[in-house]
Amino acid sequence: MLRGKPQVNRHWLDLAPGDNVLVIAGKDRGKQGEVLRTLPDKGQIVVKGVNILKRHTKAGQSRGGTRAIQGGVVDFEAPLNYSNVMLVCPSCNRPTRIKHTVLESGKRAIVCRHCDEPYERLKKTEVQ
Ligand SMILES: [Zn+2]
Repeated sequence: MLRGKPQVNRHWLDLAPGDNVLVIAGKDRGKQGEVLRTLPDKGQIVVKGVNILKRHTKAGQSRGGTRAIQGGVVDFEAPLNYSNVMLVCPSCNRPTRIKHTVLESGKRAIVCRHCDEPYERLKKTEVQ
């Protein structure tokens, strides 16, 4: 059975920690925040102040590797799907779709579609 091109399930995430993004879908639509973490394997991203969930813990209960000393409710940022956010261009300050380019130096960069300003991407995602 022909199914067209094979789907390459490997994202080269355009976003990296420290970038400013706008949420375009979900309950936090319209919020802007800084990228805290990217989860390239899952295509997910954690944005500061966005998608806050509450985790209820009991004292002494260990969950997810962290042992709660006190019981209570902990706010935490849950990962969002990568496709639910847009990069906010650092040059023109508008949420933008991006295109990829390769600089003369051979480095990869992303380019804002509004102002055509290249935005060199250091692969910070490797430092997680
Ligand atoms: Zn721009």
